Amino acid sequence: MSVSAPAPAAARTAAATPLPVLGDDVLVPVADGTEVTYAALDQAASAPVLRRVWDDVAAYLPYYGSVHRGSGHLSQLSTDLYERSRATVAAFLGCRADDQVVFTRGTTDSLNLLAAVVPDGTRVFVFESEHHAALLPWRRCETTVLDTPRSPQQAVSVLEAALHGGPDGPKLVCVTGASNVTGEIWPVRELARVAHRHGARVVLDAAQLAPHHPVDVAGLDVDWVAFSGHKLYAPFGAGVLAGRSDWLDAAEPYLAGGGASRRVAREPDGGLDVAWHTGTARHEAGSPNVVGAHAVASACRALAEAGLELLVRRERALLEVLLDGLAQVPEVRVLSLFDRGEDGVGGGGEGGRAAGRVGVVSFVVDGWDGTEFADALSAEYGIGVRSGLFCAHPLLRNLLGRGHDEGGDCGAPSAGALNAVRVSFGAGTPDEH
Ligand code: PLP
Repeated sequence: MSVSAPAPAAARTAAATPLPVLGDDVLVPVADGTEVTYAALDQAASAPVLRRVWDDVAAYLPYYGSVHRGSGHLSQLSTDLYERSRATVAAFLGCRADDQVVFTRGTTDSLNLLAAVVPDGTRVFVFESEHHAALLPWRRCETTVLDTPRSPQQAVSVLEAALHGGPDGPKLVCVTGASNVTGEIWPVRELARVAHRHGARVVLDAAQLAPHHPVDVAGLDVDWVAFSGHKLYAPFGAGVLAGRSDWLDAAEPYLAGGGASRRVAREPDGGLDVAWHTGTARHEAGSPNVVGAHAVASACRALAEAGLELLVRRERALLEVLLDGLAQVPEVRVLSLFDRGEDGVGGGGEGGRAAGRVGVVSFVVDGWDGTEFADALSAEYGIGVRSGLFCAHPLLRNLLGRGHDEGGDCGAPSAGALNAVRVSFGAGTPDEH
């Protein structure tokens, strides 16, 4: 199959080189070797599909069948593949033995699923600096929005203060693993420790952490984790919510329909008597996205096989180059939440500007609108980055220090508005451009 990607008019040639540090072709994206000749530095939005994932999906497509319903060979094969995909994802995430892996459409869907199943009366705690996907789903719950912290320690103390002495009852803390704006890694383990001490559960938004940093659900002691396949080198359409089954099994299904129901009977009064499944089927009504689940599992396998640590090391080296370069431009201000030199979940600690960050950097340039700057990078240098408010309006408002045009959401606001530029790396990011 050939897909030609549009190259910007003035794109220079810079092949996406295989990653020398990996010494293998496992993490080479499909785009490598095609006519894509510009540097795609927007992997925090969506990462390119790995060749390994592409091959795995292509090998499965001739055997495509609907799962759980049929006794035929294709259905059985697909069911087996689908269920094995859960096990692969669970291993990749370091889940506990009794955790559930529910396939969803992506992080937004996963967090909305969790929001739909939290027990009545649950109080939710979320930092204002979160991506809208983590900030907004809890609107039917009593939600406490916490101030943007200035250091990992302050994040922990702000949460501690919010939870301290509150009423009994179910509580949930939603926290990001790595900021989609600054790339900074959050002190997840410490936040989980504080949350659990106060009887709160924790859900980790790992949309930006999982592609750049090992996630260890059991080690971090989070109750759930959510991530998106399309940011983890798989195509669009599939994501994961993994974690504890008790709230999931006790709630009404997120989607009502076939597959979620164990028995449906018409009652004498004309109503319906429905018994729902427990387990993953409960929240996966309808014909599930088997191809997407297979692709996500394939990406998890590729990352585990190649060694995510190697990718992390390479990204950190690129990040050092970028941050050092930006530091030499007086007009540029790199956006940061935390004081420099702080460690996060263990991702930093090697010193340097890149410590405690994943390969995501946002900045503003004096005298430039972010969108105009990004457009110029693309048109003149063949570098594709993102501009705007990155679906994190309260955080951007805080970091930019003043109000902004409300015309945009995740994308770029109208021209003339103050907004930032974001550069993000991943597998296949060229060494030079
Ligand atoms: N959380 C974070 C930190 C993100 O960066 C994103 C996407 O950019 C999301 C959640 C939402 O992911 P999706 O759009 O795949 O649902």
